[in-house]
Amino acid sequence: MAVTFPYDAPQSLALFERASAVIPGGVNSPVRAFRAVGGTPRFMVSGRGPYLMDADGREYVDLVCSWGPLILGHAFGPVVEAVQRAAAHGLSFGTPTAGEVDLAEAIVARVEPVQQVRLVNSGTEATMSAIRLARGVSGRRMVVKFAGCYHGHVDALLAAAGSGLATFGVPDTPGVTGAQATDTVVVPYNDVDAVEKVFVDYGDQIACVITEAAAGNMGVVPPLDGFNAGLKGICAQYGSLLISDEVMTGFRVSAAGWYGLDPVDADLFTFGKVMSGGLPAAAFGGRADVMASLAPAGPVYQAGTLSGNPVAVAAGLATLAHCTPEVYRRVDEVSLTVQRAVGAALTEAGVEHTVQAAGSMFSVFFADHPVVNYADARAQDTARYTAFFHAMLARGVYLPPSAYESWFVSAAHDQAAVDRILDALPYAARAAAEAAS
Ligand SMILES: *Cc1c(COP(=O)(O)O)cnc(C)c1O
Repeated sequence: MAVTFPYDAPQSLALFERASAVIPGGVNSPVRAFRAVGGTPRFMVSGRGPYLMDADGREYVDLVCSWGPLILGHAFGPVVEAVQRAAAHGLSFGTPTAGEVDLAEAIVARVEPVQQVRLVNSGTEATMSAIRLARGVSGRRMVVKFAGCYHGHVDALLAAAGSGLATFGVPDTPGVTGAQATDTVVVPYNDVDAVEKVFVDYGDQIACVITEAAAGNMGVVPPLDGFNAGLKGICAQYGSLLISDEVMTGFRVSAAGWYGLDPVDADLFTFGKVMSGGLPAAAFGGRADVMASLAPAGPVYQAGTLSGNPVAVAAGLATLAHCTPEVYRRVDEVSLTVQRAVGAALTEAGVEHTVQAAGSMFSVFFADHPVVNYADARAQDTARYTAFFHAMLARGVYLPPSAYESWFVSAAHDQAAVDRILDALPYAARAAAEAAS
């Protein structure tokens, strides 16, 4: 049984008990279970603009936005209408459709180094397929990834660093074999020298380096100046491919994603989240000569029954079409306002903290030092986050239920929604101050 809190929600609790009988851990993706913060996960029944409504009829200002996709807010009219129109014409054909071409063109038009894309169903599939393609075109087996970067639950990427600076991966989970993990080398994020050393030893065996364009899955840790460019330089020198994982940043931090802020010509890019507006679709793409190795044009196999699904594509197209400069301006503005207010409230309450941002993505570390890698991120006082999280939840603000996640805002976060966040912050900051660490 979950820990109970005074403001626990009885309907959510009843649903969670039913769920736990038939779904492992009661959820279909682990972080939703509130294990990191305790208490009962809220079962949501509807969303509207910046708000979520739970099964007990409580309303929250949402700072998760479905983990990033909902840059326009919940149930944004034109996206809902596009989905309804598409659904009325049939849910899936298993044939090519015009919408897929439109969406591919929309992505290619926004991210300059991307000349061709293949649509898939999830960010996990995008990174998995990009790695297969990099291995296929290079004829090499090794993959370099960074500790604390998450690229979906791809076997080869569920490798954690052993001890030491750059290490062959050890499986992060039962079910990933030692062989799968040892083809992965894990290096500290933001450490170009460590990458250089790995290449000196193994450069001719390395198929690719995969990195989050800006890390958002250990909390938000932007790349240091020149880090992504440094990776590109090393990859080019050794004939390896650079994969920039923009599943989180793509079309969120700017119209061209992180590439728009830090234009490094990776060989392959992966996209998800915003590009499908809340339905399951994702993509990987890159230079036409690399993508030409993909079946049926080339020998590297990749497929999907529902890939390019017309309803998901309609949601993605409508979302991208409404991501105007005003939307990015509003998202940036709300993000900055909330970042500053969080910092001010924690300072006022005497709580050590570091607020970090990458474009409009941001998070707070309960630590007195800047965070440039996973070791820094882990050196924080998560007990304070737990207290902070529950105090915000009690005041009607829904934060990510883990200290190691980015916070997301939408263009629908209007003044009333922002005010509710600002009103809750002093109370949550005091709760964090009082938390036993
Ligand atoms: C969310 C995420 C993924 C995985 O996407 P799914 O759709 O959850 O499989 C991959 N990479 C990054 C950077 C992500 O943030």
